[in-house]
Amino acid sequence: MSNRRVRVRFAPSPTGPLHIGGVRTALYNYLFAKQQGGDLILRIEDTDTKRFVPGAEDYILEAFRWLGIRFNEGVGIGGSHAPYRQSERKDIYIMYVKQLLDAGLAYYAFDTPGELEAMRKETPNFQYDASTRGQMRNSLTLPADETRRLTDEEGASYVVRLLVEPGSDVVVNDLIRGEVTFNSSTLDDKALFKSADQLPTYHLANVVDDHLMNITHVIRGEEWLPSAPLHVLLYQSLGWAGDMPRFAHLPLLLKPEGSGKLSKRDADRLGFPVFPLEWKDPATGELSVGYRESGYLPEAVVNFLALLGWNPGDGGEILSADDMAERFDLSHCSKSGARFDYEKGKWFNHQYISRKSDKDLAGIFLPMLSARGIEAEAGYVEKVAGLVKERLSLVNEFWDQADFFFRPPQVYEEKAVRKRWKEDSAATLSDLAEETLSTLPDAFDAKETEEAVMRWIEARGYHMGNLMNALRLALVGDSKGPHIFDITETLGKEETLRRIRRAIDQLK
Ligand code: GLU
Repeated sequence: MSNRRVRVRFAPSPTGPLHIGGVRTALYNYLFAKQQGGDLILRIEDTDTKRFVPGAEDYILEAFRWLGIRFNEGVGIGGSHAPYRQSERKDIYIMYVKQLLDAGLAYYAFDTPGELEAMRKETPNFQYDASTRGQMRNSLTLPADETRRLTDEEGASYVVRLLVEPGSDVVVNDLIRGEVTFNSSTLDDKALFKSADQLPTYHLANVVDDHLMNITHVIRGEEWLPSAPLHVLLYQSLGWAGDMPRFAHLPLLLKPEGSGKLSKRDADRLGFPVFPLEWKDPATGELSVGYRESGYLPEAVVNFLALLGWNPGDGGEILSADDMAERFDLSHCSKSGARFDYEKGKWFNHQYISRKSDKDLAGIFLPMLSARGIEAEAGYVEKVAGLVKERLSLVNEFWDQADFFFRPPQVYEEKAVRKRWKEDSAATLSDLAEETLSTLPDAFDAKETEEAVMRWIEARGYHMGNLMNALRLALVGDSKGPHIFDITETLGKEETLRRIRRAIDQLK
């Protein structure tokens, strides 16, 4: 076992868009596989046909492409254990259902939904287990030939249940939580297979595939911990206890405030996404926001999520996937829930934006400009990117911060005008334009312009603050924006003069 090649899997059910908690689970599997030089497998667990949502699988694949989480095998990639979609593996599961039935470790149960409902009403906390199965309609209580008649001749509908013996300890060996012991008396005889669609339930398919795909570590969310003892029993019943995977149940993601787990409802209320990409519900048409469309960089999302429940212990925060893989350690993951701090997520995004090259940023901003019908030169957008990137938490804030580089002010913001446009602003700006700016060389270098303007202001005895505020208002239409002489250089001499004259004209 110890020298088996590490193989881990992410095994989503295509029941809707991938929640950010699922993304974190996939990410931890990715980091672990990368660190161990092992394989990461993408398996689609689609045996619950009632919960199947069209488009969900494509969404999952697209989300991982965007995030840069790469799989070595699986749906959309292939590999030596194909197929990786459980609905295409029906025959495999049937074989193991037969094996369990033949060994007397599982049994047929014929109880109809109505009968089960009646039992639930009659018996408080009803559970299908050793204490109740003797009163139910199953192959343990019916004569053998009646069972045969029902299954073979009548084609009755049934489920196959695992026969759980009460009164024994079931130990789940968890890399984060240590040994977690369950008493088998608390477990129910879970259904493993349904005759109606000839499909296994999640539990059987999950265990069979983990075994057949040589999975060494099952890293998944805490919500699956209650299923783990059943999975251990299944490994034992199938004769695979010797190479059972190690488990690691990750801490829950908690709401930003208060108690309980992070939900879409909190996210909507507080205004942040819980899905990597935008999702349109095919049934209701309801649109949910995604990190991508909200202006996040995938590297920032990955970095932020990785630190929800784990940290490298040395205070390091801005970490590439390679850095994280190198330091990742399952045994240092926290047992208690990780609070989802959305503001911190934005902080990470800001960090990643300001570290990105101007050229890469221009590659993001150019299409945003085209979408507004603005065809700017790449070199110009790069220059603007360099000037505004420190001011952005989301790439979508670019237009708000930089619109004036691409068109003259549409309006002069009222509050700014009241505060910044003085009695003498028109006259002093006009002097500035005619006496200094228009005499400078066309290159309009920021530093040279600044020096010339400062000398001139001093000679003329003008109030520097007032003049600079009025200049900004004329060029930007507001009090925002980077250093004023970076703006003049970027806009160029001609455009700067044009805007000054226009402001004088409109504000006097
Ligand atoms: N199909 C399960 C899910 O949707 C897989 C849980 C597991 O990883 O075992 O998360």
